[in-house]
Amino acid sequence: MEYEKELEHVVNEQGCWIFAGYKDKSGYGIITYRKKNYRAHRYMFLKHKGPIAEGLVIRHTCNTPSCINPNHLLLGTQAQNMQDKVESKILFCAGGHELTYNNSYKWNNRLICKICKAKISAQTAAKEKEIT
Ligand SMILES: [Zn+2]
Ligand SMILES: [Zn+2]
Repeated sequence: MEYEKELEHVVNEQGCWIFAGYKDKSGYGIITYRKKNYRAHRYMFLKHKGPIAEGLVIRHTCNTPSCINPNHLLLGTQAQNMQDKVESKILFCAGGHELTYNNSYKWNNRLICKICKAKISAQTAAKEKEIT
């Protein structure tokens, strides 16, 4: 993991850095690095504060999942954080495919699964064949 990249964000009146990119269902910012999805706040913690010991999770002191301000991020144990399960969760499409950089693309601020999209296109093409 390289940490040279600063993530785009908007600062709100609370002092939160609201991540400007894609967010998952829980509101956490998601970045893609080498075909893998990472939580944006996790990336910021690693970049500004250092490594995260195994078994520990990052907590938001501001309770704003999309916030990536390193000063609002604290390490905690899994027990302290009910969101520990989502911490390691990977994104999946409605069809159950893992959404990676290679098999998805952004459209209207949503991640679209290329596998499902290709299936739908193939079905549509087959239907068109039947008609003609
Ligand atoms: Zn914050
Ligand atoms: Zn899919």
